[in-house]
Amino acid sequence: MTTSRLPGFYNLSINERLARLAEAAGLSPDDLSAFRFEGGIDADAANHMIENVVGIHGLPLGIGLNFMVNGRDVLVPMTIEEPSVVAGASFMAKLARAGGGFRASTTEPLMIGQMQVLDIANLQKAQAAILNKKAELIAEADQIDPVLKKFGGGARDLEVRLIEDSPIGEFLVVHLIYDVRDAMGANAVNTACEKLAPHIEQITGGRVHLRILSNLADRRLARAECTIPVDELAFNARDGSETRPYTGEQVRDGVIEAWAFAAADPYRAATHNKGIMNGVDAVVIATGNDWRAIEAGAHAYAARSGRYTSLSTWGKDEYGNLAGSLEMPMAVGTIGGATKVHPGAKAALKLMGVKTAAELAEIIVSVGLAQNLAALRALATEGIQRGHMSLHARQVAIAAGATGDMIEKVAAQMVAEKTIRIDRAEEILKSPGNR
Ligand code: NAD
Repeated sequence: MTTSRLPGFYNLSINERLARLAEAAGLSPDDLSAFRFEGGIDADAANHMIENVVGIHGLPLGIGLNFMVNGRDVLVPMTIEEPSVVAGASFMAKLARAGGGFRASTTEPLMIGQMQVLDIANLQKAQAAILNKKAELIAEADQIDPVLKKFGGGARDLEVRLIEDSPIGEFLVVHLIYDVRDAMGANAVNTACEKLAPHIEQITGGRVHLRILSNLADRRLARAECTIPVDELAFNARDGSETRPYTGEQVRDGVIEAWAFAAADPYRAATHNKGIMNGVDAVVIATGNDWRAIEAGAHAYAARSGRYTSLSTWGKDEYGNLAGSLEMPMAVGTIGGATKVHPGAKAALKLMGVKTAAELAEIIVSVGLAQNLAALRALATEGIQRGHMSLHARQVAIAAGATGDMIEKVAAQMVAEKTIRIDRAEEILKSPGNR
């Protein structure tokens, strides 16, 4: 039985946290041993993953607490270098929990493969010819990956698009719609497109140029919703010795106003969506998935109307509670890519107890929504810097050369002075009594 409520987790040592985590997730400590390696992977394994390997780049791995997704508690591994993200997600997951947690769903895992068809004499005729052979082409593509087919995946549809306005004039694009089940699907789709291309050339008399998946995976969406009881949003902001109380209604309305800004303005939407991706990418990276693919899909989807906008929406429900939703493409896998060769990624999937790519996508989009709320709540009330300051101050203190107890001492002084700069940290370190 897993619980994601681990009070006092932040006070434990790393070893104690690992033990507590294994216990809470119903796993043996060995299941999570990969988290102890630098970067969750050793040099031998890394050497097989990419070219010219000389080392391993580590990033912190933290645990998002309090998450409940579709009625199930889940402990969320998050890999990220930025302070406040894990704490922000965990705090908002706690608020969402009071409203029943996150309700999440996915579409079928349909990826799009693109084939660019050039040098066609009559585009309309070629388009009709391809559509005429659609069933045959789908049947052919369906046979290409027998393993995928065995697991219920395969070719589902074929569409032909006419690109009228391009620097090289008109051409056709064939979209192969492929169900990739629990894979991210890039290799599966690229292979299918490459194998199908000669047949497309034969039908059209043209030349198939590019054969590659689209990262605008708008047929493979994940969606999360949450309701935060308005009373849960009330809090007292502290600024030095002063306290400023916020009512739940004030915070709720402030969040909705902040969202409206992102909905209407691309300059704000870029930063708003970046905040969502703080949470999304952290889980995508921890599970060995391709975060560039997720980033590309997210931003392309955010611009689908022709104007870049917010990926999330916030409003109030009929009872005055804060209601949020997030919908975005989510091409993640639990099979293939690095997910099965990176020991840390395998341990991350085990910790969450996910078996399918859909379950993983549902958790990721829930974390994105939680992260979005953390940023909006801070921005709409006390500002983003207060939460960031103490962690940021610690990093600046370390950069200035502080070690041991001096890290906390220098950081605390800079926070009290509201001056968090490396030159000030160096001065404090050099001041009498600190040397
Ligand atoms: P993959 O080819 O390693 O694994 C997928 C294969 O696993 C399937 O084709 C199938 O044969 C098999 N399989 C077994 N059980 C399965 C199940 N339950 N569900 C689905 N498939 C199952 O991986 P992939 O997901 O096709 O490719 C992902 C990799 O491609 C990532 O590393 C990504 O970085 C890379 N990539 C991305 C792009 C891009 O995003 N534009 C382009 C090229 C490559």
